[in-house]
Amino acid sequence: MSNLQITGVGSGVDGLVAPLSGPGVCRICFNLIGSASTLCRACLASEHHLDVVVPISYSVNGSGLHRKIVAYKRHAEPFVAYAIRDLAAILERFLAVHELCLGAGQPFDLVTTVPSSDRQRDRHNQLRRVVAELVPTVGARHGRLLAPSGVAAGRRAFCPGRYQALASLHGQRVLLIDDMWTTGASAQSAAAVLRAAGASYVAAAVIGRHLNIEYSDNRRRLEVLRWGFSWGNCVVCRPPM
Ligand SMILES: [Zn+2]
Ligand SMILES: [Zn+2]
Repeated sequence: MSNLQITGVGSGVDGLVAPLSGPGVCRICFNLIGSASTLCRACLASEHHLDVVVPISYSVNGSGLHRKIVAYKRHAEPFVAYAIRDLAAILERFLAVHELCLGAGQPFDLVTTVPSSDRQRDRHNQLRRVVAELVPTVGARHGRLLAPSGVAAGRRAFCPGRYQALASLHGQRVLLIDDMWTTGASAQSAAAVLRAAGASYVAAAVIGRHLNIEYSDNRRRLEVLRWGFSWGNCVVCRPPM
């Protein structure tokens, strides 16, 4: 397991690491890949139903952000209250500045979150509570638009059947929020269901794009290609690298 300190990588504002872009980076999800391709393996294998994917930061295993994203749903941990506070603050600060980047110049009508994979867990979905109650920029527009259908699906496989829409969304512009993007399977599946329900535009805002620092030469690449995190820039509005 890594004992990486994020200091010095991406100039870690609150432990955040700005996603890289350009050659060697997946143009959909910002995963680090071999330079010969423009899409990572997971994005090559998936269907695409999102107009844009905007990760706020990389979630590097071993980092403080990664620990918060993993821990905030576990009720038993004393760390939970701090993790919730920090993740809500990250979403609020980012969405207050970059909603129009996500929306291609227009605000969203509705905001929702990717449901849990099973019904029991989704009843107490922590991300839904965080967005509805602690992220005022979008909280008033938040609604529960999706629920788990009960259909079993591999967590890493694209499978819209795992979710059902709870409302007709004819012509609505929907912002879909998730805490972590690993393969994108759940977010792409959720987006497919939102579109089938009539949504005209669906964008994903993700707190952390997971990055395994031990994989391939990811550590070296992150350290060499420093890209300072700034609240004023997102992967849509910042100048090219
Ligand atoms: Zn990708
Ligand atoms: Zn932006």
